[in-house]
Amino acid sequence: MDTPPSSQIPDEGDLPPEEIARHLHRAADWIRHYLETIEERAVLPAIEPGEFSAQLPEEAPVDGEPMDRILDDFARRVPPALTHWNHPSFHAWFSNTGSGPGIVAEMLTAALNNNAMVWQSGPASTEMEAVVCDWLRRMMGLPEGFFGQIQDTASIATIAALAAARQRATEGRVRTEGLRGLPLLRMYSSEEAHSSVEKAAILLGLGQDAVVKIEVDEAFRMRPDKLQEAIERDRRAGRLPMAVVATVGTTGTTSVDPVAAVATICEREGLWLHVDAAYGGAMAVVEEYRWVLDGCGRADSLVVNPHKWLFVPMDCSVFYCRDRQTLKEAFSLVPTYLMTPQDDRAYNLMDYGPALGRRFRSLKLWMVLRAYGRRGIAERIRRHVELARLLQDWIAAEREWEQMAPAPMSTVLFRHHPAGLDDEEGLRRHNEEILRAVNATGEVFLSHTIVRGRYALRLAIGNIRTQERHIRKAWRLLKEAAAERASSI
Ligand code: PLP
Repeated sequence: MDTPPSSQIPDEGDLPPEEIARHLHRAADWIRHYLETIEERAVLPAIEPGEFSAQLPEEAPVDGEPMDRILDDFARRVPPALTHWNHPSFHAWFSNTGSGPGIVAEMLTAALNNNAMVWQSGPASTEMEAVVCDWLRRMMGLPEGFFGQIQDTASIATIAALAAARQRATEGRVRTEGLRGLPLLRMYSSEEAHSSVEKAAILLGLGQDAVVKIEVDEAFRMRPDKLQEAIERDRRAGRLPMAVVATVGTTGTTSVDPVAAVATICEREGLWLHVDAAYGGAMAVVEEYRWVLDGCGRADSLVVNPHKWLFVPMDCSVFYCRDRQTLKEAFSLVPTYLMTPQDDRAYNLMDYGPALGRRFRSLKLWMVLRAYGRRGIAERIRRHVELARLLQDWIAAEREWEQMAPAPMSTVLFRHHPAGLDDEEGLRRHNEEILRAVNATGEVFLSHTIVRGRYALRLAIGNIRTQERHIRKAWRLLKEAAAERASSI
């Protein structure tokens, strides 16, 4: 038989493995240097929009460039134009960590390039995801019965939870017919809930108005009595209450909604209860702080972000769901090309969320949980809460500083309130200037929030490398900036 003619197409392929290893060694050396010298960098770059992109060519190169040149360019151009989340003085929003074990895992994840769409496409990654989600569930003291999986972000997990809630509330009609002919669906969250809840309502076709914002108490926690009233009001108006989103660790103040009381209402009213514990859930790893998840075992779903306060690099969001069947009914759609042999011992992760492709995210969670252990993680979180207490003590000891909200976790809200400056607008401007001044030093990065209409500085502690000296530095810079500005009032 004739052999078919061979093609003239050159076989370029990838870089040879030994060359890849050489660049990895270079990258590893750079990472080491980066972490060793991170405190010498500005947390927040002094850079204007467009300044970075102006350094890059308009088009991709026609011919490939040597990796050494690309790595040189990376080191010279990229880090100076970045905000350094791995800096121990990063205290804005919620600080997080790309920890050592997580960094190593990310490198291996890229090398494996696994895609756990179906069990067959990633046996170890599918099963490791189940195992580590269950490890974390036990570490946080949640009961059995939760099906765990990893999403990229809490926002996507909340969309998945509410899609399942919508599926259940409409007895599956929404899946085939959409929202046509259905009463207006309603969901409830506190006025302190994260914007991802409203975004989910928009994306699910319910509309932003479908989210009823429930009043909070003096500690910024959802008021169950107001929730009950809102549900009854909606039922009387012919609307269809569908779900409640309670928050453990709200973005503004880290308040914890009374989940047990909310769960009682949800059970009585037949509503799906989703708990957004994106930041605060981590605290339950510490034995004495388990209370933060009180009542969460009765929730239908819960999300916690290891990429926030559990030292796992972006992105890793663990999504637990008790009603696994409804979740599957909301999402499962199997095209012919993805039909794989059925085996009751296996399941396909693509059936439980919006995405088909799936990074091997469980590897970094596995490595982080193993490298620090439950005790090591608990000690680090406990330490962050202690540091936040220390800062609160310093604030309380100063006449002209005031705390703006209780701090049940590791995020503290406060402001400078000099004698003689009492109007809210003036106080806002004064504290805005303090924030701008301390952030401009490059030595720290804090953010702000609005608490009951009042401007507050916000210092979050959650990076694994943050020590007492970093909090002392932030406090010194804040006091210096305040003294400078107060003298001109
Ligand atoms: N929920 C809470 C309470 C948050 O604070 C945040 C972000 O900070 C989110 C959800 C959204 O998290 P993600 O970026 O993982 O979508």
